[in-house]
Amino acid sequence: PKIQNKIAAGEVVERPSSVVKELIENSIDAGASEIQVSIEESGMKEIRVIDDGEGIEAEDAPLLFERHATSKIGNDYDLFQIRTMGFRGEALASIGAVAKVTLETMNRDSEPVKLQYDGGVIAANEPGKARIGTDITIRELFFNTPARLKYVRSLRTEAGKVIDIIQRMALNHPAISFTLLIDGKEKLRTSGKGDLKAVIADIYGINVARLAVPVEARTPDFHITGYIVRPEVTRSHRNFINLAVNQRFIRNFRLSQSIINGYHTLQPKDKYPVAVINMEMDPKIVDVNVHPAKTEVRFSKEHELNALVEQTVREALREETL
Ligand code: ADP
Ligand code: MG
Repeated sequence: PKIQNKIAAGEVVERPSSVVKELIENSIDAGASEIQVSIEESGMKEIRVIDDGEGIEAEDAPLLFERHATSKIGNDYDLFQIRTMGFRGEALASIGAVAKVTLETMNRDSEPVKLQYDGGVIAANEPGKARIGTDITIRELFFNTPARLKYVRSLRTEAGKVIDIIQRMALNHPAISFTLLIDGKEKLRTSGKGDLKAVIADIYGINVARLAVPVEARTPDFHITGYIVRPEVTRSHRNFINLAVNQRFIRNFRLSQSIINGYHTLQPKDKYPVAVINMEMDPKIVDVNVHPAKTEVRFSKEHELNALVEQTVREALREETL
């Protein structure tokens, strides 16, 4: 593979869970309503994502593993708009450079194709199945980059990260049905019926969902929606706080802390809530270029947002106890 693809691979695809995230984002961008993910040996042996999205035109398929092949016109500003999650055409090139890939896809305007790529180069071309959507399999991740292999943590940790990412994506997209199979066993399934509370039930259990309290606030800059749940019914863990900006999950220590602070006003200080909070805002407020994996973000109105989130959570719980 081209050397620059190998370098970029280090940024975008640092581990199996980052590959899973990029592939799911592509399925979401393609308008899928069902996304099935399966991994073998925590993704190091195989990662497969099948979607019922719009598929890829036959003539575009051979180019996908070239750097900056993207059908999404865009820039940083677009990143936090709902419509497309990818924008740089970097993911597939990076993945292709460090793995063996099979892509089977069909678009309504063209014939099905099935291509195999080895280190980003086409190795085989066969007739594909006539089914609109995309079925992509990544095998032997990092097979040609032994130095990276060493850095991938234990297989168990990796599988945990894949589960974590799919849970967060499912919570941000209640209208998409997600299925996750690990070594052939079903670990997660969401119905895709569009009801966030149902997804909370699928992930954290019906007893958690039943106690979920709606959270909502609107200011000129922000629209906050979601649920917060008292943790008496569950194991308490900071990781059960799910944050998203314009339906894209993010990590932000300060905002998580704001949720915890709002929660602790009325609740025991030794526990953490389950929270699923989406924050709609103008993408101009979001600074995304903190990390290529795009989950760490900053905000230009950070103080205002933190205060709003804390207050909204506090009020939602207070109303509930009245
Ligand atoms: P980006 O998402 O930033 O455009 P990617 O490397 O992730 O870049 O994908 C390259 C292109 O491949 C996308 O722009 C899209 O046109 C196409 N593509 C990838 N995965 C899918 C999919 N599951 N369904 C339809 N098109 C896809
Ligand atoms: Mg993409």
